[in-house]
Order: sequence, then structure tokens, then C-alpha cells
Amino acid sequence: MSWLRTLLWFLFWSALAFGIEYLWQTTIGWVALAIACGLMLTIRRHQAGRVAAWAAQPETDPPADVGQWEDMVASLYRHTRGQALAVRELQETNAAVMSAAQALPLGAVTLNRDFQIRWFNVAAEKQLHLKQNQDIGQNLLNLMRSPTFVAYARQTEWPESLLLKLTLGAHDQSLMMRLVPYAGDQLLLMTRDLTQIEKLETTRRDFVANVSHEMRTPLTVLSGFLETMLDAPVGAISGEQSRQYLTMMHEQALRMEALVTDLLTLSALETSPHAERLHVNVSALLDTARQQVEVLSASRHIFDWQITPDLNLLGHPSEIASAMTNLLTNAVRYTPAGGHITVRWLRRADASACFSVTDTGPGIASEHLPRLSERFYTVDRGRSRALGGTGLGLAIAKHVAMRHDARLDVQSKLGQGSTFSLLFSADRVSEED
Ligand code: ADP
Repeated sequence: MSWLRTLLWFLFWSALAFGIEYLWQTTIGWVALAIACGLMLTIRRHQAGRVAAWAAQPETDPPADVGQWEDMVASLYRHTRGQALAVRELQETNAAVMSAAQALPLGAVTLNRDFQIRWFNVAAEKQLHLKQNQDIGQNLLNLMRSPTFVAYARQTEWPESLLLKLTLGAHDQSLMMRLVPYAGDQLLLMTRDLTQIEKLETTRRDFVANVSHEMRTPLTVLSGFLETMLDAPVGAISGEQSRQYLTMMHEQALRMEALVTDLLTLSALETSPHAERLHVNVSALLDTARQQVEVLSASRHIFDWQITPDLNLLGHPSEIASAMTNLLTNAVRYTPAGGHITVRWLRRADASACFSVTDTGPGIASEHLPRLSERFYTVDRGRSRALGGTGLGLAIAKHVAMRHDARLDVQSKLGQGSTFSLLFSADRVSEED
């Protein structure tokens, strides 16, 4: 209503001029009206100047006392604030979407139709070995030159995903890729790293193959003997001979039993990553183990037991017994008669504890050491089988160690013997009896 205010002012000044003119004389009235009009014009110009200065930065606070401009300034300010609010909301939404896209475990790369890279997230950076400051704007097909990928990308439609096997340096990588067109002429490349999953799948396949193979051997022997006995005419097999067959069949049955027991132990160990923290009296446990291994050794070896009495553990007693017994029986089985076996259970300077078994056996060549605790890995399969091994003993020991925040360590030199150790952290050591 600024026009109304202006009109009222005008009427007021005219009435004042008319009054002056009527009361005093004509000239003074007209001079007063002219001064008033000049004053009004100057004020208006000044207000217009302030409004113009504000309009250049409408996001700042609007000027006050701008007369007839007030309504316009108020509505312009409201509009500008509304716009600024909408822009901020849009920016926040955009930032949230971008950080969600960055956090995706899937790799995402946005491209134009010429495969020029516009943006990519952290997962894509890792999986495709892209560099933020270098590869934006580059053509993806120049960076990923695999002919399989180039042929896939050059299609006009991408209804299927592509499983791409890449060799980068010493690493093999399996990536699942899919191109998706969006927003008319843009492309989104999604990538998923399947390397670990494929490795696990290979391990699982190898494991099933190994178990089947290990079980088939004794089963074949068993059924062979059974067939021979069944096919032989009545009375053709002497009592002595059938006893021999039964003894051998019994050996194979025991072997299968040992395998199944070890497999069940391993699968039980895999159910949870951490063992409970029960009190384990290690000296008592080693007393029992000592009796067992000395029977197994049948006085063929010279033992030296260095056991710290009140050094105990927090863990699972039967698991720890199983891991320690495995190391002890291996030393007895692989060390030839007359060899020395030293067993140590000692506290270390940093309050941790170490169980170690040192033998003067054949030792192990260094190339085998990293794989020794893999399931079914044996240096000499025939020898391991002949000695009643399942190929699972060290895998069990390693799993038990992991579940007790401990480490299985192997030091060995071919022809010079071996030391197998279980290193328990101070956190698992207990001084209580
Ligand atoms: P196995 O049942 O075959 O003994 P393990 O997992 O216990 O399986 O051991 C894996 C392999 O490590 C064995 O086959 C053997 O070749 C080697 N090994 C283990 N302990 C010793 C040792 N004390 N001396 C020499 N070789 C050993």
C-alpha cells in the first residue's frame, strides 16, 4: 500500500502549503511545497539506492526504512530465502546420496556414451585400480584393455553381467561387471569383487575332493578284502590268512575313524571364532599327554620335559590338549628311533607363554613350511599315511591357536629337526592353580 502512503503524504504537504498560503501569503506556501517535494524526492532516491545495493546481494539482511520499496523488498527477500533454503536442501540430499554411493561395497563408475569417466566411488577405485586425480575424464576402454571387457562394453545392450578374470601383478582377480544405461545417454558400470568368494569356493571344492580321496583309499582296501573273502570257496581261506585280512581291514577302519574324528574336531572348531576362557591346568594336561606319547614312543626316543608348574591358561581344556598332543605325536611319529624330543612349557619375558616341541627328526624343507597347516597338506603323503597321519593334525593345532588368540609357529631345517610352538598371549595366561 505504498502508493496510498505517498498519496497521503502528498495530500498532507498540499494541505500544509494551502494552509500557509491561506494564513500568510501565497509565495511562502509555494516555497514550502517545493522544499517538501524536493525533500521527498531526495529521500526516495536515497532509499532506491539502498534497495539497489541490497538487490545485488539479496541473501543478506534487507535494508529497513525504505518507504515505498518496503513491500517489494519484503517479497523479494522471502523469495530469495525460499530459494536459498531449497538449494541447501538439494545440496544436503546430493551430499547424502554421494556419500551413500561412496560407501557402497559395490564399485560404481559413471560414464558418458563414449566411455569417458565422469565419477567413481572408493570400491571402484580399489577394484579397477583407478586414480581420483588422474582418471576422471579418461576413456575407460583405454584404462581397461582386457579384450573380453572391451567386447562386452562395445555391445549396444547389456542384459547380462560379465565375469572378468584379471591378473594384476602377482594377484588374480575375479570381477563381476554390469553396464546399465541411465538418464538417456549415460552409463553406470557396477563391479563386484568375487576374488575371495571364488577362493573360498575353490578351497571348499578341494576340501571335498580331499576328504573323498582320503576316505576312498581305506574303503577300497576294505571292500577288496571283503570281496576276496566272499568270492573264495568255503574253506579256501585258512584261519591264519583270514586273521591277516581282518587285521588289515581293522587298520583301514581305524584310519577312517581317525579321519572322521579329525574332521569333526575341525568342524567343531569352526563354529565360533573364540574359545571360552575356562581355567586350564596345563601341567596336569601335559602329565596325561606325557603318558600317551611315551606309550606311542615305546622307548624309542629320549625325552626332556621342561614344564613350568604354575603356568596355566584361560581357554578350552580339550582343544588345548588336542593341539599340544598333535605336536607331540607328530614329533614321536616323524623322529626316527634314538632321536631327542624336548618339550617346553615356559613363561616369557613379556608375560606370554610358549609351548614348544623340538625334535631331532628329518626336518622339513623351507618351501613346505608356509603350507604345512593347510588341511590335508603333507610333505610325503605315503610316509604320513604309513605313520597313521590324517594330514589334519596341524590344521587342528592352528585352528585351536587362532581360537585362543595364539599362534602356531614352525621352525625347521631339512635334516636338522623341527620346533613346533604354540605362542599364547599374556591375556590368555593364568597364574592361578
Ligand atoms: P599328518 O597327519 O600327515 O602328520 P599334520 O597336519 O599333523 O598331518 O602334519 C602335516 C605334515 O607336516 C606331515 O605330513 C609331515 O610331513 C609334516 N610334519 C609335521 N610334524 C613334523 C615333524 N615333527 N617332523 C617332520 N615333519 C613333520
